[in-house]
Amino acid sequence: MATSGWGRPRRRRPSNSPERFAGLVYLISPMANETFFSLQGQVAVVTGAGQGIGEGIAARLGQAGARLAILDINRAAAEEVAGRLKGVGLPCDVSSASSVQQAIEEVHRQLGPVQILVNNAGIAGRTLPLWELEESDLDQVYAVNLKGVFLMCRAVIPGMLAQGYGRILNIASIAGKEGNPTLIPYSSTKAAVIGLTKALAKEVAAKGNITVNAISPAVIRTKILDGIAKETVQYMVSRIPMGRTGTIEEIAALVHFLVSREASFTTGQCYDISGGRATY
Ligand code: NAD
Repeated sequence: MATSGWGRPRRRRPSNSPERFAGLVYLISPMANETFFSLQGQVAVVTGAGQGIGEGIAARLGQAGARLAILDINRAAAEEVAGRLKGVGLPCDVSSASSVQQAIEEVHRQLGPVQILVNNAGIAGRTLPLWELEESDLDQVYAVNLKGVFLMCRAVIPGMLAQGYGRILNIASIAGKEGNPTLIPYSSTKAAVIGLTKALAKEVAAKGNITVNAISPAVIRTKILDGIAKETVQYMVSRIPMGRTGTIEEIAALVHFLVSREASFTTGQCYDISGGRATY
């Protein structure tokens, strides 16, 4: 018989005893949805949600009750994901002001005012040292990774101010905190996203219950890695103290918390989700 560590016999609960599962049942019951971090009825826009991390985030927010707008430059992918997650799939190039405006107007028409915006769309750009890059390499990455976040925020903030409520979550990167060699356009635009997050958070902080936060993931195995040189990926993975890459589910769980009503006294932060690569 097992002991409690003090020599006294400890009664082992049968593995399927109701006592043992009481807490777990509470967590997964439909009631839990209404109790913890529920997003019931809230309209959530996720950019670049046609695959990868964005798709995973959308799935998680949908499970929590959000009504989803799946935006992606790839219309077919957006519609396919939206079909599976019972959301609205819309084509949107986040680097184009008119495309962003059109998409947000369509979200309003089909779903109503936006409560949650997750700026996830991003590209890595070419992996080369700075002196081998073209000017256009910087322009392309800047247009999606930074201008895209600016345009999306600008499109939804007036509605959030009018409601006095909103959650904006920007997907930055550990590259923005630490800088990854051969990824200068990517690293610098992600650093800029962190700066935008902090400044915008302060602009809206006292104008209702509106928060703006960012997260900085380390390597997550998605298709974005296909376009990055193998040596650069190896470098990034080797810097993670946990010795593994992160998962889409881990990212989605953190985002879910940060866009919930409960995360109401946290704004202008960049949350690390890097297996310990950065501890600041
Ligand atoms: P991914 O390439 O799998 O998905 C990116 C999605 O964004 C695609 O569906 C793509 O069509 C879409 N997209 C690209 N350009 C767009 C545009 N102009 N307008 C709208 N949509 C556009 O990448 P992912 O790994 O899922 O990355 C998602 C986000 O997470 C990105 O911002 C990325 O920088 C960031 N991130 C990823 C990692 C990682 O290791 N995968 C680490 C840190 C941060």
